[in-house]
Amino acid sequence: MNQDIFAPGFKAEPYWYEEAPLVVASEPSLPDAVDVAIVGSGYTGLSAALTLGRAGRSVLVLDAEDPGAGCSSRNGGMLGEILKVPYDALIGRYGKSRAIALLREGMAALDYTRYLIESEGIACHFQPVGKFVGAWRPNHYDRLARSLDFLHREIGYEAEMVPASAQNSEIGSEIYHGGRIEKRQAGLHPALYHKGLLERVTQAGVAVAGRTPVLAVTRQNGGFRVETTRRTLSATDVIVATNGYTGDATPAFRRRLIPVGSYMIATEPLAPERMARLIPKRRMIVDTKKMLYYFRPSPDGTRILFGGRAAVGELDARTAAKKIHRLMTGVYPELGDVPITHAWRGFVAMTFDQLPHIGRQDGIYFAAGYNGSGVAPSTYFGHKVALKLLGDPEGATAFDDLPFRGHPLYRRRPWFLPWLASYYRLKDRYGR
Ligand SMILES: Cc1cc2nc3c(=O)[nH]c(=O)nc-3n(C[C@H](O)[C@H](O)[C@H](O)COP(=O)(O)OP(=O)(O)OC[C@H]3O[C@@H](n4cnc5c(N)ncnc54)[C@H](O)[C@@H]3O)c2cc1C
Repeated sequence: MNQDIFAPGFKAEPYWYEEAPLVVASEPSLPDAVDVAIVGSGYTGLSAALTLGRAGRSVLVLDAEDPGAGCSSRNGGMLGEILKVPYDALIGRYGKSRAIALLREGMAALDYTRYLIESEGIACHFQPVGKFVGAWRPNHYDRLARSLDFLHREIGYEAEMVPASAQNSEIGSEIYHGGRIEKRQAGLHPALYHKGLLERVTQAGVAVAGRTPVLAVTRQNGGFRVETTRRTLSATDVIVATNGYTGDATPAFRRRLIPVGSYMIATEPLAPERMARLIPKRRMIVDTKKMLYYFRPSPDGTRILFGGRAAVGELDARTAAKKIHRLMTGVYPELGDVPITHAWRGFVAMTFDQLPHIGRQDGIYFAAGYNGSGVAPSTYFGHKVALKLLGDPEGATAFDDLPFRGHPLYRRRPWFLPWLASYYRLKDRYGR
């Protein structure tokens, strides 16, 4: 393995923090009581806070770390609109009309996020460049084409197939067997987007308290008692927006959400001609593997930002970076001697049915479980859960009432993940 892959000044933190470092925790003195306490200050929490703050509710957002330190400042910044579960599996589970309604919500999430960014004037390098989905096997290409027929017919999905013979117009690699261009999808700078949301939320009168872990949420006098490391307060309502960082403070959600590590690296700046060859149209790129790769140019088009599952749990930054670098050179062998300037990771939340969930559990509102594709869905679900809390019928979604199941053998530690990851790797290598 190449030991010299680390650039001088290598940082074990998101590349995104170069332009948008985390805002150091604001430390308002915590109130005795609020209308709504929101646990988690990522896109879900802030999107909910914006809707509630503008509706005149007193809102306190609490985060264990600095605001946004979870996934929402460190993701790939790729805005998608298709659910993890394939359309035919959705139909098998829920019937055709519910499946179509669920798929439409994916598109609505992208529309809402784009609308929010544009209407709020959030400067976050929003780039509607589309996404290329690479087919890992020839039959995956056929599967992409079949699902496109359905999606186009039933929900007006805008995409186009690219055969292997023409894929060099999309990607300077021979690793895929053609793919699909998903035209409406987009990229953004995740930390700038979070920063913009945080500013709007604060302007709406919402208090955001970082470095204030919530220890417990319990029922009290028709409302809730919210215990934090700094003080205990009461809230009429609580929204849990902790996704892949959900812990013991909210055990009912912990046993339904499975935290999985996702890792990214950034290369040194590359020559413009090279970038134009590797990702000619500056699109977002993912593939059809179980243990998928996701990569893209940096918003200024100078670097490759590459992500994947280096491990399902915690791995130190340098070890993880080497693994992701190796995955990247599998796609682009010519990047073997290109050093890495940044490497980072975060925890996404998987669910047992691979779908996001929204609603109310034991009186507590929640939205979570985006299965690794949460930039648009978390923004949308945050808004929707706030509307639900306000009693606004617009808060209804096709995801309401989907059973949100845990597993009897899973309480705290996702012991089964290493086995599942090995199975997925074998399937990617030898399966169909
Ligand atoms: C490396 C990586 C790449 C990704 N790439 C993409 C992508 O390209 N496209 C895409 O759509 N999605 C992507 N995702 C997923 C996406 O970032 C998430 O789905 C989304 O940001 C989830 O937002 P959230 O607000 O629900 O959770 P988070 O942003 O994770 O926020 C949860 C917050 O809850 C806080 N918290 C937890 N427990 C407590 C407690 N007890 N008290 C107080 N606070 C608490 C945490 O500190 C954290 O800040 C990626 C994720 C990672 C890690």
